[in-house]
Amino acid sequence: MGFESLASELELRKQKHLYRRRRLLQSPQGTGVQLDNKHYLAFCNNDYLGLANHPDVVKAFQQATNECGVGGGASHLVNGHHQQHHQLEKELAEFTGRDRVLLFSNGYMANIGAVNALLGKGDLVLEDRLNHASLLDAGLLSGARFQRYQHANNDSLSQFLAKPRPEKNRTLVVTDGVFSMDGDIPPLPELAKSCAEHNAWLMVDDAHGFGTLGKNGGGCVEHFGLGQDDVQVLVGTLGKAFGTAGAFVAGSELLIETLIQNARTYIYTTSMPPAVAAATRVSLKLLQTESWRRERLAELISRFRVGAAQLGYELMDSSSPIQPIIIGSEEKALNLAGWLEEQGVLITAIRPPTVPKGTARLRITLCAEHTEQQVDRLLDLLDQAKSK
Ligand SMILES: *Cc1c(COP(=O)(O)O)cnc(C)c1O
Repeated sequence: MGFESLASELELRKQKHLYRRRRLLQSPQGTGVQLDNKHYLAFCNNDYLGLANHPDVVKAFQQATNECGVGGGASHLVNGHHQQHHQLEKELAEFTGRDRVLLFSNGYMANIGAVNALLGKGDLVLEDRLNHASLLDAGLLSGARFQRYQHANNDSLSQFLAKPRPEKNRTLVVTDGVFSMDGDIPPLPELAKSCAEHNAWLMVDDAHGFGTLGKNGGGCVEHFGLGQDDVQVLVGTLGKAFGTAGAFVAGSELLIETLIQNARTYIYTTSMPPAVAAATRVSLKLLQTESWRRERLAELISRFRVGAAQLGYELMDSSSPIQPIIIGSEEKALNLAGWLEEQGVLITAIRPPTVPKGTARLRITLCAEHTEQQVDRLLDLLDQAKSK
């Protein structure tokens, strides 16, 4: 069989302005990057605190590599569970105020592993309709009955929870902590209350909240003051505000032991390089103690929002560093991103299926290391773009 059907599918994708291309990053990640031999001011990565290339984090990584080598070499359950992993798990448990933490290689695997270790056929998983792809995939893969509820809507969730279910079957409610493409936060205290009333567990993936939300960067659960009895399964990723790589699940002793026994994406994979864990221990310290990075971020977010609103742009209900501008059509979003790029500013156009049809957008993200002048430059370009 030839590949003609693939060729026509790809061609169709191009015509619909949905084709995705990769470009070459030739510098460290940051607010200023070199991409395909050109320098850009970037407003599109998730390195919200500017830790991905922080000298202390880089140094910790280098030192640990000298001491531990590069590869993890085996899975955690064989002999790949390095003391650097173990130490990081303990420090993250203390940071999140949970009994224990389990490290995963990345957020996608953490979500697939956690949901599938907890649920199977006969169970029920309820997901916010705008959840991250990895959460939706996790629910679908589990074989549990899969139901989406209206975005960030506790009434919609409660309606599904109120339907009678067999007592022996489990129910898991799953939501982003900060929505990755919209930047808003669900009403977690209400969701937690509904789950408690209806004997369901709540799982929150706070990939974008850790480091950016909460006084100490503890994310949405710190922001709302929710403990492990309110949010039983808490997921964080390390590739965003932490600036490194990997992910973790935090919760009770019983949850973590269950994951060690049952989570296939934990069991059947090589442990992350120990030096990544060592570097993350340093970035965790910076993230907790250098609260000026969060304050700075808040100032820049506010500056951007005030400026963009004055220009007549409609903003989303977001106080996070994710500040999308909805454009609508894929073609228009691509054209605007292309024009900004010609002016030296990099912002990716996010298109379906990452976001719902008709809501293609510029996903602007701010970083603690942006300057006021850089935010003003972006606003100035957005002003000029209005007449295009
Ligand atoms: C980025 C992201 C993930 C995936 O995490 P990785 O470590 O990059 O695999 C999971 N959930 C959410 C909400 C995310 O934004």
